[in-house]
Amino acid sequence: MSDLIFLKPVLKENIWGGNRLKQFGYDIPSDHTGECWGISAHMNGDCIVDGGFYDGWSLSELWEKHRELFGNIQMDRFPLLVKIIDAKEDLSIQVHPDDTYANEHEHGSLGKTECWYVLDCDSDGKIVIGHHAKNKAELKNMIEQKRWEELIRMVPIKKGDFFQINPGCIHAIKAGTLILETQQNSDITYRVYDYDRLSDGKPRELHIKQSIDVIEAPYRAAEIDPRVTVEHGVTITSFVECDYYQVKKLDVDKTGQIEFHAPFTNVSVIEGEGTINGKKIEKGTHFIVPFEYGTCCFSGTLSLIVSSI
Ligand code: ZN
Repeated sequence: MSDLIFLKPVLKENIWGGNRLKQFGYDIPSDHTGECWGISAHMNGDCIVDGGFYDGWSLSELWEKHRELFGNIQMDRFPLLVKIIDAKEDLSIQVHPDDTYANEHEHGSLGKTECWYVLDCDSDGKIVIGHHAKNKAELKNMIEQKRWEELIRMVPIKKGDFFQINPGCIHAIKAGTLILETQQNSDITYRVYDYDRLSDGKPRELHIKQSIDVIEAPYRAAEIDPRVTVEHGVTITSFVECDYYQVKKLDVDKTGQIEFHAPFTNVSVIEGEGTINGKKIEKGTHFIVPFEYGTCCFSGTLSLIVSSI
């Protein structure tokens, strides 16, 4: 049986970041820490294995040289990226392409589908998701004429909400929001609007043409209808199953056990503390359950977000 693969998160500073990632036990570099890349093999933040047989390896090396840990799946890169994001300020309004558009226009990159679990937010918290244009022509007009107030669709959020962001869906995280994001392992982002903010005296680059190309009009909401089941002491909330990932929340109170059947399973502890097969885990711990690991026995009070392909 292989070890669980514990990972050291990579912390990133951003102009819009804050200091709430401290709550997860991380040693943050400044009060503008916006992102924790908890499970990542991306070259801009490749997590290092923390302990066990592969201590010190990067996740990308492990993926290249020990594909058996990941069920020998044939993919050219580790497919997912799990982040915790602390937005002290609004993030720019953006959209991602799908695989076809990214492959054609971004040198063979993947597109990006992502989803958000709201860990915490202000009492009047909101996010941007979707738009109000009736068709592509109206969308183009509204963007070119900078009619942002009319265009942007804003929705109230609360702790525990879940959102699926498909390619072509315009979106933004607003100030005060703390989320866990599970996404395809890709970086391709088109910035639609940045609230006319200046960074170093200049506005940040927008990608108007690409945005108009890829934004789906009219907007269609991705329906999320969480299913809840209880198995062997674990409460399982299934949020989404799409072409790229499945995301679930697991809650354990005292003891529970589960066996994962995916090629590999990403796990992030978002609340509580306890153990998995005798190993201590707590809020902020990220690990991968390798292929055919067997039964995971939990003890303690734990909330986990898990993802697999
Ligand atoms: Zn995004």
